Amino acid sequence: MDEHVRPFGGAEELAPVRIIREQFARARRHFNHLEPGLVDFLRLPQRTITVNLPVEMDDGRVENFVGYRVLHNDLLGPGKGGIRFHPEVSLDEVSALAALMTWKCALVRIPFGGAKGGVTCDTKGLSQRELRRITRRFIAGLGDNIGPYTDIPAPDMYTSAQTMAWVYDTYDNMHPGENNLPVVTGKPLELGGSEGRNEATGRGCVFALERALALGVVQGLEGVDGARVAIQGFGEVGRVAARLLIERGAHVIAVSDSRGGVLAENGDALDLDAVLAQKAESGSVVGLRGSRTITNDDLLALPCDVLIPAALGGQIHAGNAGRVQARLIVEGANRPITPEADDILAAKGIRVLPDILANAGGVTVSYYEWVQNIEHHSWPLESINGRLLARINGATDRVVSRWRAFSADCADAGGAVCTDLRTAALVEALERLALVVEQRGIWP
Ligand code: NAD
Repeated sequence: MDEHVRPFGGAEELAPVRIIREQFARARRHFNHLEPGLVDFLRLPQRTITVNLPVEMDDGRVENFVGYRVLHNDLLGPGKGGIRFHPEVSLDEVSALAALMTWKCALVRIPFGGAKGGVTCDTKGLSQRELRRITRRFIAGLGDNIGPYTDIPAPDMYTSAQTMAWVYDTYDNMHPGENNLPVVTGKPLELGGSEGRNEATGRGCVFALERALALGVVQGLEGVDGARVAIQGFGEVGRVAARLLIERGAHVIAVSDSRGGVLAENGDALDLDAVLAQKAESGSVVGLRGSRTITNDDLLALPCDVLIPAALGGQIHAGNAGRVQARLIVEGANRPITPEADDILAAKGIRVLPDILANAGGVTVSYYEWVQNIEHHSWPLESINGRLLARINGATDRVVSRWRAFSADCADAGGAVCTDLRTAALVEALERLALVVEQRGIWP
């Protein structure tokens, strides 16, 4: 057996809450001074809500959907996090994603806590009217557990600006006469949305990647110009990252969606316009002329400089991490790599820019949208992108310098306490949260 392949732990290894617990445990070793009760407070969700949603379908049947909203932590400000519509949405997954949001907001230093929500459904089989009814019923079911100063939703997988418009409209009908625009972000531009929000996560990924390379995170790869990149997931995040990387001289050699992937023939770069046209025409990138069809697992194993998982969680695990040949992985998606895979990648010398840094662009521009809504103002795109760049650069600098400090300790200790960029990022975020717990004091 390849020395870098371990038995894949199946569903247990992929369980979102277990992944988050393990990531937390690795960072927690650096917080020996914190009281166990406070450690639990930082780890566990503050509030979880499950709602049952009877919805009248277009054919007159009534179907029951289940929705969740988890507020993980509001130490730094109101909860913030997306709403996901997907068949695999569960309380377990939503809780894990809510914890990631707490850490992400703390890491990029925006005044929000972490939250997440979702409805278990397959949007591919639902009409727009059915989606609107599901959204309205979900938001009505959450009642005052969301609000501009308590918990603020946003888009996530298979929800969009249109979904957020319905969220706003429902909440606004329930709270007439108030400025309710800041209750949700990722809205359409005409309805208080922010310039640059749709692109923010992909753009943030590219900013973090460029900064990390400039800081020397990968030896011999100082920038994206000429880099060979493979991207899993061709949605809002993957698509934008692809375009920005190509603009900067990178070669995007492969992309994929839920139906499979395409690899440019003869090792060339893909023509992005052709990929977009193929996707618009057929609903999938698969079938692109001048490309070879590959599986999503093949894509993850391609020899390349940068791999960007930008689809689902749990994609790189003990069973396939040994096949990864990229030099750097940039986590566009949330928790695409299991802790077991993290260890395998580290042993192979493959660096990982973690989700809480690499995909923090979305929540950062959501924060700008919220501020603009409160101020009844709108900022130009250049201003948004400039602020985003500064914030992502700052966070990347802090993560890399902490990682370097850990690496120095590791060398001094003969390799006993080594840590990766993920743990460095998490320690950075948790340290801020722990400090704020102490400053605020335990209530009452
Ligand atoms: P999206 O719905 O726009 O796109 C998802 C893409 O993933 C689609 O191309 C879909 O076909 C593909 N996909 C689905 N299942 C797949 C599978 N099994 N294998 C390969 N591809 C598959 O979603 P998005 O907004 O681009 O989000 C992608 C990821 O980024 C998610 O993990 C999300 O949580 C994370 N994220 C998104 C944002 C944001 O602002 N959009 C912010 C932070 C994190």
